[in-house]
This record gives sequence, C-alpha cells and structure tokens, in this order.
Amino acid sequence: MNSLERVSLALQHKEADRIPVYPLLNSVSRDIIGIDYEKWTKNTELCAESIIKTTEELGLDVICSLVDLSVEAADWGQDLLYFEDDAACPDHNNRVIKSVEDYRKIKQINPRETPRMSEHIKLCDLLVKAKGNEVPVVAFVFGPLGIASMLRGQSEMFMDLILEPEAVKECVAEITKTLIEYCKALMETGVHAIMFDTLFASQSILSKQMWDDFEGEAMEELAKLVHDEGRMVMIHNCGDGIYFDAQINRMKPEAISFLHTPDDCISYEETKEKYGDKTTLIGCLDPGWLVSASLNEVVEETKKQIDVFKKDGGFILSTGCEYPSTLGFEKAKVIINTGLEYGKY
Ligand SMILES: [Zn+2]
Repeated sequence: MNSLERVSLALQHKEADRIPVYPLLNSVSRDIIGIDYEKWTKNTELCAESIIKTTEELGLDVICSLVDLSVEAADWGQDLLYFEDDAACPDHNNRVIKSVEDYRKIKQINPRETPRMSEHIKLCDLLVKAKGNEVPVVAFVFGPLGIASMLRGQSEMFMDLILEPEAVKECVAEITKTLIEYCKALMETGVHAIMFDTLFASQSILSKQMWDDFEGEAMEELAKLVHDEGRMVMIHNCGDGIYFDAQINRMKPEAISFLHTPDDCISYEETKEKYGDKTTLIGCLDPGWLVSASLNEVVEETKKQIDVFKKDGGFILSTGCEYPSTLGFEKAKVIINTGLEYGKY
C-alpha cells in the first residue's frame, strides 16, 4: 500500500494497514541538502528537491507545500525580512497598509505572474510531478484575513475590525478574488488538496461570530471552488480553542490540522468523539514541547495520541503546527517510527 492509498483510506474513515504519518516537516527539510532558510524559500528547485528527499528518506505519507506565511502578502508589495534559520516575515516598520485608507489600495492581482505565488505554483508543480502518483500533495494557502494582517500588522488590524469593518471587508474581498485564481492555478498542477491556514478562526484570536463575519463567506467560496474541482479541502489552525463547528459549517473540510482542542471540547478524547467521524484529524504533537522533550517522552506522547485518535481511521499522526525548523530530524524520526509500529491496525 502506498501513501496515497493509505491516506485516502484514512480520509474515508477506514482503517488502512497503519495510520498515515506526517509530522509537518517543512522548513527543516532544508537540512537534508544543507541550505539556509532564505535560500530554501527563494530557490524553488532546491526547495522542491529538499522536500522530495525528506519525503523519501523519512518515508512521509503526505507532502505539504508550506514555505512561510508571507508568500501571498509579498505579492502585494509587502517588504519581507529573510533569515538564515527562521521563516521570512513582514518588515514591521514598513507595512503596505499604513492607515485605514490604504485597505482600499489592495486590489486583485494575478498570482500566475507575481513573484512569490507564481514560484509557489511552480513548487507544487515540481512536487506533483515527482511524487504525486504515490504521495498526496497538499498546497498550502494562507486565508484572506491572515494575508490582510500581514499587510497591516495584527494589532492594528484588530482595531480596524471594530472601528472600520467595511474597509477591511473590501480588502478581504479583493484578496479572495486573487486567491480564487491562485487556487485554480495550484489545482492545475494536480495537487490533491488545498490546506487553508485560517489563523483567525480560534478563541485565541477572534470571537467565533467575528471570524464568521469577516472570513466565513470567503472561506466558503474558496472551499466550494476546491470541492467543485474534485479536490480536498484541509484546514490548518494551531490556535487555542479552534472553531471546528463554524469552519466545518462553512468549508466542509476533509481534514483539519490542529494543535489545541476545539472551543467546544475539553479534551482530545472528546474531540475524537465529537468530530472524528465528521472530518479527518491531523495532529497534534506540540512542536514547542518537542524542543525540550526527551526522546522517551516523545515516544510516550506519540503513543498516547495514537491511542486517542487511531480507531476507525480519520487520523493522520502529525505535529500540531510546523515541526521546529532548527530541531534536526531525530525527534521527527522517533514520531515516525512510533507511528509505523504502534499505529498498525
Ligand atoms: Zn500553525
């Protein structure tokens, strides 16, 4: 059974030979060919090569194209800072949206022609061509509200959501039009799924009603587009008190990658009970915790999660957010090996 078959069974809530295993090994994959984060981000061929090599050498069951959260924002002209060991991020001293009026400057752009999104389309193309027959390839796309916050700054945008909601909504609408074209181009490469990072859909950031009001409709439209093309919708949200119900209602996702329990559950057990048959759960080892955990503790925690989530499929063993970019592969291998052995059906 190859990874595509294994993951496909899991997503149908059936038990395969074993649980699929995919700690979110994204930027750490640059280690396998010895390049720094900046080069990994900017050189699409090397980025693809490192992801492909990592997938093969570690036997990963999924490929996700997460590079950093600035891919989209960069193409609206946001200045970025690049680092040797860390993800690129917006220059906080020079945001594209400097005032409320600037929201209206954000217009639809063509992601096939802009610098970073066009490279991301190319990255997905390389990944699908190399591995798409055996491993599901998941394109990673930041949600429109998250992109707006990269252009404006999060704390400034919070004020605007309350004081100038219409300006933010106009901006979100233009970004969404762009994302529709972006998703179409990504799907043309043959990716099996699109994973949307809905950063704002959790208690730790916005109320449920506000999330739905500002991003719900856009996410529904994007999810429908993906489903109409016969691809899968996935969500990534590592916030505390993630809104499973509101997002399932809008997006009908085949899978949700999460770190914390949803706002309406008190434990992972309850999460499995309540949502385990409605969507596939991708999670949820804490990357922050992994940094200081001993190898033995990683084994024990991984087993614990397998015990909670394994039954009846609908589970992919993973980290709840990206695996730390500077941690090396040792702990990833412990997670993977524990999944291979202990995750057998
Ligand atoms: Zn995350």
